[in-house]
Amino acid sequence: MIYPDSLPHDLPTGVWLGLDNRPAASGETFPVEDPATGSVIAEVADADSAEWNAALDAAVTAQDEWAAWAPRRRADVLSAIFAEITRRAEDFATVMTLEMGKPLAESRGEVAYGAEYFRWFAEEAVRLPGRVNQSPGGLGYMSVTRTPVGPVLAITPWNFPLAMATRKIAPALAAGCPVLVKPAMETPLTMLLLGQVFAEVFARFDVPAGLVSIIPTTRAAEMSAELMADPRLRKVTFTGSTPVGRQLVRQSADNLLHTSMELGGNAPFVVAADADLDQAVEGAIMAKMRNGGEACTAANRIYVDATVAGEFTERFAARMASYRTGHGLEEGSTLGPIITAKQRDRIAALIDAAVTDGATIVTGGHAVDGPGYFFEPTVLTDVPAGADILTQEIFGPVITVTTFSGLEEGVRLANDTEFGLAAYAFSGSFEGASYLAANLNAGMVGINRFAISDPGAPFGGIGQSGFGREGGVEGIEEYLDVKYIATPNIEKGHLL
Ligand code: NAD
Repeated sequence: MIYPDSLPHDLPTGVWLGLDNRPAASGETFPVEDPATGSVIAEVADADSAEWNAALDAAVTAQDEWAAWAPRRRADVLSAIFAEITRRAEDFATVMTLEMGKPLAESRGEVAYGAEYFRWFAEEAVRLPGRVNQSPGGLGYMSVTRTPVGPVLAITPWNFPLAMATRKIAPALAAGCPVLVKPAMETPLTMLLLGQVFAEVFARFDVPAGLVSIIPTTRAAEMSAELMADPRLRKVTFTGSTPVGRQLVRQSADNLLHTSMELGGNAPFVVAADADLDQAVEGAIMAKMRNGGEACTAANRIYVDATVAGEFTERFAARMASYRTGHGLEEGSTLGPIITAKQRDRIAALIDAAVTDGATIVTGGHAVDGPGYFFEPTVLTDVPAGADILTQEIFGPVITVTTFSGLEEGVRLANDTEFGLAAYAFSGSFEGASYLAANLNAGMVGINRFAISDPGAPFGGIGQSGFGREGGVEGIEEYLDVKYIATPNIEKGHLL
């Protein structure tokens, strides 16, 4: 089967500047690969400063008009985008599987999840926060309102090609801000397809030109440096690795940009002695294997009470070994490829180093022969404390299992990380669950739950996992400035 034949025939591959999809002025392109075959599925425009500066000019022009639209009108646009993504869900899922690799069923799940951010923020657009109080000294009134921060640059990773962008674009638009989106080089096609949805919906509602631009480029660092040096840009929202996040925060200083940083994770998964083992095994499988382990919230390290460790590990390893690698468009594939050969080799090196230091491979342990960049589902035990595989984000279908004695030790081991995005714990008692919820250090804690991402919840981390929240009622605040207006006392019967 020639998989590129599965791509929608009118898939855009140019730069989206407002409603137009056009080749880069330089004429340059870059290839997008199917990681399951290693073959090129499309050539995409490689934008340079001509495009990203034009996009910022257009965003600045769109800003005031869009911000002046009534919230309900903005909400209607977001609702229409939700409906259109949902209508084209199968196209989105197919493109996503082809460029990112995950099985089609998982891509369908991401499309539904990604679209939900437009529905959620359509609902939030008409509920922008504010308050009015009399000043404590009785001098007058304090009105606290919100204004849009201004043009936003959104930089997104490859692992969730749609949702990582929609949870930035939707709240920004709801708040009244135009957006420039820079998708990951590995997976620009899903975002360019979203551009087609924007073009259709924006034309229907006659939104200001240049409200959203999508700029695929191989020159990410050059682009962000140039745009962030332009005082007209007001916000950078980034999802990606911690080192790049740190660099963007440094760069944001000169123009005092607002920043939101959704960075790396190293999630622990704690199994208490009193946990329901059926649920804990299934929870650990889902927390690890969703998105093939290529999720910032993926369980990276399992800690299990020594009294149940033998049974848990045996059952968990058997479930891991039951995954079937294969092309994501093929019936029966439950585990897609790693995104690139480089990432696959990085994972192999982490395992090799752990084994050299004494770790035991319970199942898996190796890359699968090509074509494509597949890796066996892998479980390691006896991993020495401090090993790289425990301190670094694995980002693949690989996990360690370590034992502890008593919840205090379990929590101490779980919290032994500089990251703090997600943490999971299973316990069968109220006391155990409460102790774990209170003591695990992370921005998001799942108690007897593995699926924690939700458009209605604030997604984000602490420590080296970054700051800022996406989703929930908190998500829109990232795109709003606070404005306080002082007014005099209004006395009954007096005209001001
Ligand atoms: P990455 O940091 O290499 O790239 C992310 C994006 O930043 C891409 O679009 C890339 O082109 C761009 N980029 C790279 N260097 C840049 C630079 N110097 N200046 C500006 N932009 C630059 O990360 P990745 O490998 O694509 O994604 C994996 C990482 O993302 C993992 O660490 C994962 O944990 C993290 N992630 C975090 C979340 C979250 O919400 N916390 C969600 C998904 C992924």
